Amino acid sequence: MRKTVLLASLALLALTACEKKQPPAPAQPGQPATPAHPTPAADPGEPVGDGGAEQPSDEALPAGPASPANPGEAPPVVASFQHGEAGDLIPGSGSGYLDRTVWSPNLCFPMADGGFANSQVYGAGGGKGPKDKPSQCDASNYSLPWRDNFCEARGYASPVCASGTGHQGQDIRPASCKKNAHWVLAAEDGVITDIGTYTVTLVAAAPPHRVYRYLHMTMKELAVHEGSEVKAGDHLGKTSNDFGKTPTTIHTHFEMRAGVAGTTTDGKPVVIHTFLPPYLSLVAAYQRQLDGTPCS
Ligand SMILES: [Zn+2]
Repeated sequence: MRKTVLLASLALLALTACEKKQPPAPAQPGQPATPAHPTPAADPGEPVGDGGAEQPSDEALPAGPASPANPGEAPPVVASFQHGEAGDLIPGSGSGYLDRTVWSPNLCFPMADGGFANSQVYGAGGGKGPKDKPSQCDASNYSLPWRDNFCEARGYASPVCASGTGHQGQDIRPASCKKNAHWVLAAEDGVITDIGTYTVTLVAAAPPHRVYRYLHMTMKELAVHEGSEVKAGDHLGKTSNDFGKTPTTIHTHFEMRAGVAGTTTDGKPVVIHTFLPPYLSLVAAYQRQLDGTPCS
């Protein structure tokens, strides 16, 4: 009961901050711990990878977000969480794409314990992040507000981005800066069609058969295999930093591709398998998770 009251109070505070458009405040009180061994920056070669190096085992961990609603209890009423606007990227990190379309209106938020959507490369501990914040576990990475990073500067083809190239999805840090600890979930009912070196692809069963791709889970311990049929919210694996031979930061890179042709809110054509901006779908999905709405 006390927890419910506390959550409700925090939620009211968050809503007030949001409505008044005050500058973003960290979700967790306190200052970030100073890491004993700063994480070296990633090689900033092109195209840029998804972030910095592996987390040292003795690095202090920041606190995670509030836990989702307890099963068995009435879900607390949680107000809107702080998040930046679609297309509002970190200055200097590329041109964001402002598309108001919620491409996957019933998306299951793909992180079981919540998470922090923000840039891996340009955030603390990233290859192009602030030099005075060398740790990927810096509290600034594990706090609100969320930040869009679709179309962030990359060499990868991403047709709806202004330059035709850019980050093809949204990066989401897990609830805590710890790998192999937080489940990644199926975004919709569907089939696992491909598992790569550090990728898992899910094709939705229902029209328009959107294609979701997840990167950087603990690939040796996945809960699925090629051909697995999954329901929205099923466990796929755990968030990690697997990225082939070079580890990235601890996060899930989440992509959404079109299942059918369409048009964006600013009239750009979308053909099948075009990378879609996932940010607004993720914002709505995370709000549903905070509200205690089940995925299926
Ligand atoms: Zn990414």
